[in-house]
Amino acid sequence: KVGEVATEKGINAYVIGGFVRDLIIGRKNLDVDIVVEGDATELARAFAKKIMGKVHIFDKFKTATVTLSDGFKIDFASARTEIYRAPGALPEVDTAPLKKDLFRRDFTINTLAVKLNGREFGKLIDFFNGLKDIKEKKIRVLHALSFVEDPTRILRALRFAVRYRFNIGKHTEKLLKIAVRKNLFRTVEGKRVYLELKHIFEEDNPLRIVNRMEEYGILKAFSPRFIWNRKKRDFFERIRKIVNWHKLTFNKHKANYSILYFAAFLESLPADEVDRLLKDFSVPDDEANLIKNLIYRGRQLAVKLERESFSNSELYEILKREKEEMVLYVAARTTKEDLKHRLLEYLKEWRDLKLVITGNDLKEMGLKPGPLFKKILTELKHRVLDGKVDNEYDALEEEVK
Ligand code: ATP
Repeated sequence: KVGEVATEKGINAYVIGGFVRDLIIGRKNLDVDIVVEGDATELARAFAKKIMGKVHIFDKFKTATVTLSDGFKIDFASARTEIYRAPGALPEVDTAPLKKDLFRRDFTINTLAVKLNGREFGKLIDFFNGLKDIKEKKIRVLHALSFVEDPTRILRALRFAVRYRFNIGKHTEKLLKIAVRKNLFRTVEGKRVYLELKHIFEEDNPLRIVNRMEEYGILKAFSPRFIWNRKKRDFFERIRKIVNWHKLTFNKHKANYSILYFAAFLESLPADEVDRLLKDFSVPDDEANLIKNLIYRGRQLAVKLERESFSNSELYEILKREKEEMVLYVAARTTKEDLKHRLLEYLKEWRDLKLVITGNDLKEMGLKPGPLFKKILTELKHRVLDGKVDNEYDALEEEVK
């Protein structure tokens, strides 16, 4: 459909990058990037109108996003060199603007394009041997200065290498090592590094990516005091299991999983170093506070729960005001299996426990609504949690007496 609209308007449009890469590899990808040789916003508007979708225009950058109901998100961007073309000029016949646009990208595997309009619909455009590199399972940069230009690509290289089980090309690896040795991360805005770290922690297996970061000396570049040892790796592995459990168990309760890894990542650093990194990475206040909470209060909470044995109802009272992330973090942090199980049980069963008995039942028993109501119901709930109740009505009568 985008192609039809582009053809009508006589504009060249291509789907590019990650979507094409994943199409060839066979991985699900709901983010479609379209590059237009011309005004992307015009095409996006016309397309949205045709499919009656929602369009969001960013005039400053000449980009637009159309969101489809089935989860697909289509981004439209103008190939840079085309934006200021004189009005009325003939549409470009050659693909120079597209090529220039693709040349700015990180790796060859991300430079494939498929033409969407005209007679060449569906044609694969491959200026930089991306297809060959996908087949050979290689991550390769497009030119020798790539990591200097943008050191966050170092993190992207490791992320893609682990995700697709690709190797980093020999030459690319050499360039990567030089970039790390020169500590080029210092030249990047911390915010961008943080974003890439977050992407890493959103992957299925961050542990393997951080292992690679350690291997290349990237952790030490962030902080010389970074420790990446067996204990940390086990912690990451436990987080992964708990995140998977949580994803499978709930639709309703959402959690920020990447932040669990991020807190675990920073945990062994001294407090002033944690603060420095959060500041350098320009982590937004709410996230920084949650991370620090997980690290410090999470530690206290884990110690407390490991040390004393609490009844179910006591555990319920301790946890009920805690964020989802905190309960998950403590469950991942502890190596005590029984504590972990009880925390997960809390998330799965206890916190949503609904009594059969309601306030109405109390009214019928001739009680007046008020603080006492809540007290009775809470007490009853505690007793149910502690397995002391066979029949709620009997228990209630006992309680009221
Ligand atoms: P994912 O599957 O993780 O979303 P993606 O390739 O779609 O992978 P994005 O971060 O959404 O990744 O980036 C979209 C495209 O923009 C990429 O295909 C890549 O070519 C390009 N890109 C992103 N970041 C950079 C960068 N730092 N340098 C060069 N190109 C980049």
